Amino acid sequence: MLRSTRITILACLLVWAAACKSSSSPSDLDDPSSLHAPKHGSSSGSAGAAAPESWAKGNAARESHTTRIIQEALESQGAWRWLHELCTQYPQRFSGTPGYDGAADWALSAMQAIGLSNARLEPVDVPRWERGEVERLEWFPERSGPSQLIECLALGGSPGTPPEGLQAGVVAVRSFEELARLGDKVRGKIVLMDRPFDRSDPNPFRAYSGAVDQRSRGAIEAARAGAVACLVRSMTPARDDVPHTGGMAAFPRDVTPIPAAAIGAISADRMREALDRGVSVNVRLTLSARTLPDVRQHNVVGEWLGRERATEIVLVGAHLDAWDVGPGAHDDAAGCAHALEAVALLSRLGLRPRRTIRVVLFANEENGLRGAEAYLEQHRFELRKHMLALESDRGGFAPRGFQTDAAASALKELTKIARQFEPYGADTLQPGPGGADIGVLAAEGVITVGFVPDSQRYFDLHHTRLDTIDKVHPRELALGAGVIAAFLYEVADLEDTLPRNPAKL
Ligand SMILES: [Zn+2]
Repeated sequence: MLRSTRITILACLLVWAAACKSSSSPSDLDDPSSLHAPKHGSSSGSAGAAAPESWAKGNAARESHTTRIIQEALESQGAWRWLHELCTQYPQRFSGTPGYDGAADWALSAMQAIGLSNARLEPVDVPRWERGEVERLEWFPERSGPSQLIECLALGGSPGTPPEGLQAGVVAVRSFEELARLGDKVRGKIVLMDRPFDRSDPNPFRAYSGAVDQRSRGAIEAARAGAVACLVRSMTPARDDVPHTGGMAAFPRDVTPIPAAAIGAISADRMREALDRGVSVNVRLTLSARTLPDVRQHNVVGEWLGRERATEIVLVGAHLDAWDVGPGAHDDAAGCAHALEAVALLSRLGLRPRRTIRVVLFANEENGLRGAEAYLEQHRFELRKHMLALESDRGGFAPRGFQTDAAASALKELTKIARQFEPYGADTLQPGPGGADIGVLAAEGVITVGFVPDSQRYFDLHHTRLDTIDKVHPRELALGAGVIAAFLYEVADLEDTLPRNPAKL
């Protein structure tokens, strides 16, 4: 391991020496933004600043591109500033709202400040769903006494209830098979989908995948079985009572939509325990959610142009929208901060790889993926020029590495690049999909890569009011931005173009 690290370091030194030459090419010097830090994210550690003694004395490894980029990321903490600006100025940026438009304008200005070329807004028609004023779940005791209020959140796309609410007994199930076996017993009831995360799974994303069908399809299956509403245990491994919202699949034409809401894990446990004791659970759900006509909004796109093969693209993406219940600091302001800071770092250090790095901040990931679909349609003509797409949508925790769907020969190259992040504990390269927004590109044969930070606490916060900036550690976020920037640089600067994956259509 040590020996291979030394070889990598040596190789990096050579690449760096070559790139230093090219980074002072006339095209760079013509671009003033590449010579000094932008207003935002400027730092004492920007290119050309004197190196502090502690790292000037460092060993040769510190001279590599990766080391320079990550050092600058940690010193400048530029990623934190992007995150802070986005979450404090546009804490409400749910699809279809004016807050999203403000965030898109902010992102466009950020790209211009970094010195990206072709910074622009690209149109996307997004769905407009409103939670409304009323979200109320009352639990009536079996005999007498006051009702208890249970915190709940309507799921995205849910219709509202009648103004007086829907009152019925609760039936709890852990699978769609169990629901089907109950047959007529579900008619007129409120179904509680109550399958918890698999706590024995060390990978929270896999545990999420094993539970999330209850949120996406629970209400559809409950409606098919004759239920009047659906409650869903929140998608979390946390032992708290905070509800997590999230999107539902659209109701098929032959199914009459029913209202659906998430409840916290503790409330779900309490209902389950009561039912297991043979005590009936009687609740009233009142929601004023509704769906309005689509709204024209935008993806935000900008480019750090390549120095040799500028028409070839390495895409870095995140989603700019967030659920309406909080500022979405980890999901996905952190990803936006990663993407913006990755190119800001290269700009500040004057590092211009062979190919273009295109930043895309997608609209409407949370409740429609319309931004991703619009990008695919608007860029179909140059899909074959997309060599790789990377997405950050797993939070701003400490980086662990990446996952990718790259086939064998490209995987070999990417593994070499990922190995450089071993000193940062971020050298994992595991098989897996790149992410939701770039999934449409993967289907067309573009290699996709997902940034993988530590994920043990991600789903405690995901789609809740708890996902606030105090949950993001500036140093962890900065390290992630540095690792992403270095990964993008190395990929975009590869001498040979990576072979495409077979299209998955
Ligand atoms: Zn997300």
